[in-house]
Amino acid sequence: MPDATPPNLLGLAPAALAGYCAGHGEKPFRARQLSQWLHQRLEDDVDRMTDLGKAFRATLATHARIAAPDVIRDSTASDGTRKWLLDAGNGNAVEAVYIPEDDRGTLCISSQAGCALDCAFCSTGKQGFNRNLATAEIVGQLWHANRTLLADGVTAPWVEAGRAPITNVVMMGMGEPLVNFDNVVAALQLFLDDNAYGLSRRRVTLSTSGIVPMIDRLAAEAPVALAVSLHAPNDALRDRLVPINRVHPLASLMDACRRYLPHAPRDFVTFEYVMLDGVNDAPEHAAQLVELTRDVPCKFNLIPFNAFPGSEFRVSPRERIASFRKQLQDAGYTATIRKTRGDDIDAACGQLAGQVQDRTKRRLATRIVAAGAP
Ligand code: SF4
Repeated sequence: MPDATPPNLLGLAPAALAGYCAGHGEKPFRARQLSQWLHQRLEDDVDRMTDLGKAFRATLATHARIAAPDVIRDSTASDGTRKWLLDAGNGNAVEAVYIPEDDRGTLCISSQAGCALDCAFCSTGKQGFNRNLATAEIVGQLWHANRTLLADGVTAPWVEAGRAPITNVVMMGMGEPLVNFDNVVAALQLFLDDNAYGLSRRRVTLSTSGIVPMIDRLAAEAPVALAVSLHAPNDALRDRLVPINRVHPLASLMDACRRYLPHAPRDFVTFEYVMLDGVNDAPEHAAQLVELTRDVPCKFNLIPFNAFPGSEFRVSPRERIASFRKQLQDAGYTATIRKTRGDDIDAACGQLAGQVQDRTKRRLATRIVAAGAP
């Protein structure tokens, strides 16, 4: 008899999948085979997993499911950026964005339906928070993107015949990934596992607004490349732009970055800095950034602000962004200006809007954050 809610195999990290197989009397090598079917051959029909054995396939058909989030909308921009709006249930939706570049295919993945942290310049934050995504919903974004792009016969210089087109993952979509820590770490383990997606730690980046205790846990449990949404060079301004700063101020965030680096696959942290006209883009702000990060090996990624309906900010003028960058470069830093991609489908940074219902939960989450957790 089928289980009422059988486990979604896309959400089982390697150890959990091994435990599931053992629980059904299967040897460890079966878990590796099954993982390869799921995450490398991107198969969702157990009857096609021909080397698993008939009895085990019958077990899977009854006691498991394989399901990525349903696609609500699929749009492709003129520059090749492709965005999937994915159903997160109860009127909520999240977004995953594929960004093809010269030498890589990057997928930007969401970790929550909405976000409770309410950064002042962020379209997602303005929508409120509904819930954490399950591991299967996080992994399902990569599974779906690879599967769809392969089925569409996508061609690019980095795509080997029949191989997955996504070479890099960035956890920079909707949500603060370190607030959904356990589910995100399980997903990261699958991204890195040789029997699943097999990405190197250098090719997986997690972006956080600065949940300090969880940065330490990430170092211990899944130390991928780290990006920090900095956006302000002093506590007074960051308290306003990134409210979690009131819980984890800049000094403790810089300490956490220093502690993370010995575990990181790269020898620097990336600081993201959205350029807001007349707010954080003055020469004294650049000077404060240099002072703040003096002993943190880092690179800066300057992000021209993408305005959204109702936002109170404007993007800094192009010349001011260039001179801000030059000031950082003159101080010895690598500083890049993020290219805006997918403008015509609202897939640029800070425009991952999705759909979020039930904002009562946002107020609850905000109180939790204000109380000092997570
Ligand atoms: S910038 Fe990130 S942490 Fe801040 S509200 Fe937006 S999604 Fe949340």
